[in-house]
Amino acid sequence: MSDRSEKDWNTRTKLVHSGSRRSQYGEMAEAIYLTQGFAYPTAEAAEARFIELGEDEFIYGRYGNPTVRMFEERIAALEGCEDAFATASGMAAVNAALFSILKAGDHLVSARALFGSCLYIVEDLLPRFGVEVTLVDGTDLAQWEAAVRPETKAVFFETMSNPTLEVIDVAAVAKIAHAVGALVVIDNVFATPVFQRSFDLGADVVIYSATKHIDGQGRVLGGVVLGSTEYIRKTLEPYLKHTGGSMSPFNAWVLLNGMQTLELRCRAQAEAAAKIAQGLQGHGALAKVTYPGLPDHPQAALAARQMDCGGTMLAFEVKGGQAAAFKVLNALEIITISNNLGDAKTIATHPSTTTHQRLEEADRLALGITPGLIRLSVGLEDADDLIADLRGALDAAL
Ligand SMILES: *Cc1c(COP(=O)(O)O)cnc(C)c1O
Repeated sequence: MSDRSEKDWNTRTKLVHSGSRRSQYGEMAEAIYLTQGFAYPTAEAAEARFIELGEDEFIYGRYGNPTVRMFEERIAALEGCEDAFATASGMAAVNAALFSILKAGDHLVSARALFGSCLYIVEDLLPRFGVEVTLVDGTDLAQWEAAVRPETKAVFFETMSNPTLEVIDVAAVAKIAHAVGALVVIDNVFATPVFQRSFDLGADVVIYSATKHIDGQGRVLGGVVLGSTEYIRKTLEPYLKHTGGSMSPFNAWVLLNGMQTLELRCRAQAEAAAKIAQGLQGHGALAKVTYPGLPDHPQAALAARQMDCGGTMLAFEVKGGQAAAFKVLNALEIITISNNLGDAKTIATHPSTTTHQRLEEADRLALGITPGLIRLSVGLEDADDLIADLRGALDAAL
């Protein structure tokens, strides 16, 4: 017998086996425990479980479920952290992580370039409950330094911003936050759990929308908050189990299956994204191609240090504004116009009229979301087919 434990397994092995539990039937695939609750053999057993939950004991679906637990343990093993709590969506995870930590009188520093719904929580909701929020340009370390103070309870940012793919230096921001005792809460959707070791970089709490790469096939919504057992069980779990944002066992089962191919998919998608970023260079309809794996990306060195590749997303700016961008989108034949990301199907999004429509024009422009900007989530199709589709569509805008 080898002397390695589960902790020593490499990523692909963890993604197939970590967290698995077999029932007395010895099923090969993970079972779906589609049940609202659990029966107790005796009244005394029920009482004991309400006093303290043992390993592999459950009370009620909102608190936990065996299929959901398998998903939580698998993603915690992948991320290399102690514990996780799965949620109904990525936004349930962001909401729970921030609301479980913050209270009236606390201060939060957040990067300004956020997913629209994250910005709503940070800019509109938290201040309503007396949390003071300072927004900063996440790539400017001097702004983080100037914004933190003794009442700062947490800092929050997306490690790679949507849709402009700015990379934030997790280790440097963590150092600034930890100096005032603030927790580092990150939304790591764009960097994926495959390409970045967030806890090693100094993150305290890591959030994913599992709807994206973790499912990877556009089927279900899901989310997860990861951290220490102390944070997950003492701070986050009471908030989530009483407010109802838990993950459905069916969705956990879909995501457990999605995870088995997560590493293979992310690597293939990132390889294709790099090839496409190269393949679009020099097209006359383009003003700019942004990909963190390209040497001309403003934070290419940081991206290379922090992630082990440029990721699965890229953005490009079409000359001629919205009219030209719409011409390109409407001329695509393989690539689909939609707004998910991390999917097996390549998806093109026009952020300024869809995902970021809610913002004022001036705020959009300040974030680099111009009318000609198209975001591309690269899928599993053949990269050469995608390049031909994109170049053909770009010709329509010349
Ligand atoms: C999609 C997304 C979310 C929200 O996830 P849902 O599963 O749609 O609720 C949060 N943050 C980022 C960066 C995302 O891309």
